[in-house]
Amino acid sequence: MGWNTRAVQGDRTGSDGSPVSPPIYQTSTWTTRDADHFASVANRPRESRCYTRHGNPNHEQVATAIAGLEGAEAGMVFASGMGTITSTVLALLEHGDHVVVQRSMYGGTTSLAQTLLPRLGIRATVVEQSRPEEFAGAVRPDTRLVLVETPSNPLLQITDLAAVSEIAHEAGAVVVADNTFATPVNSRPIEFGVDLVWHSATKYLGGHSDLSAGALAGSAELVDRIWETSIITGAVLGPIDAWLLLRGLRTLPLRIAQHNANGLRVAAALTEHPAVSVVHYPGLDTHPGHHLAAAQMDGFGGVMSFELSGGYAAADRFIDRLTIPVRSASLGSVESLVVHPAAMWASILAPDQLAATGVRPGLVRLSLGIEDSDDLVADVVAALG
Ligand code: PLP
Repeated sequence: MGWNTRAVQGDRTGSDGSPVSPPIYQTSTWTTRDADHFASVANRPRESRCYTRHGNPNHEQVATAIAGLEGAEAGMVFASGMGTITSTVLALLEHGDHVVVQRSMYGGTTSLAQTLLPRLGIRATVVEQSRPEEFAGAVRPDTRLVLVETPSNPLLQITDLAAVSEIAHEAGAVVVADNTFATPVNSRPIEFGVDLVWHSATKYLGGHSDLSAGALAGSAELVDRIWETSIITGAVLGPIDAWLLLRGLRTLPLRIAQHNANGLRVAAALTEHPAVSVVHYPGLDTHPGHHLAAAQMDGFGGVMSFELSGGYAAADRFIDRLTIPVRSASLGSVESLVVHPAAMWASILAPDQLAATGVRPGLVRLSLGIEDSDDLVADVVAALG
């Protein structure tokens, strides 16, 4: 089946007389018949009719849809991307373990790996993601997890998923890929050997800036293990938000087609402008990861970052002058959003951590929505002055 059909029909169940739009199970708990029934539902991984922190029919339906799009055996949803990431690492790691992470990745994940995990006795080695040989040099006998993000936030660097998966598996480690930027429509990391995929579903999967959610997809064995920790970490997605997430998924392929088209048009316009010193967008053939991206992605998405030669003040002025993109955290929504990463991440990362991730003062991150390409190009060019 094609992407649009899968997004709309992939999780469809039900028979005559069942509602076409799923009901919202706005309940925290379910009745049980007797002690045996209670014991069986209370301990079953991802059981959807026991207690909503353990699972809920709205979670189950949207998780099935996401797993289907990712080509995974099982899926799970969480209250946020960070809830997904934290539950996953706490489920798969213990004191004394070692992880490998990329230099360029979402600030919250960097902070988790470099600040929280060391407090629990888990060490992280940071590698340059465009060089698989750095992953090979970093893995050790105690490496349990390799965390990758491709394209990465905010520098849109590309990781070789097949090469890194092979290196990690030889070392006996699990590979997890953050697929927030690509979405399964543009890239399916599991096809390249990755074990688990996670998302900030707050972004493209939801797609309308109206919910906070996270998602995980992988083998049933790994997802069930993470479920056991998730009922302790408790990052529970509300039933209404799960329902909204499913509604967002229905149009994911349609939206991604327009995001991809807008990305290519605006990135090309930016590269031609003298005020812009560098554009980070994997769809450009000048991007160092372009060939790899073309081999492992079906489209390049709507997020890009670029540097203005005028530095911090120029980036701030450019954002002020835009009339279509709104200055706002987040990305992957129907409306265009823009941020100044040096300003945004100063509150999450210490100055040395920020500099180490390669974020420079003049960097702007632009998440193009699904507005018309001509309007976006005109607005961006006018704001550059
Ligand atoms: N991963 C990526 C690539 C992100 O961009 C974000 C948030 O911006 C997250 C994870 C965290 O997701 P959330 O904000 O839904 O917790």
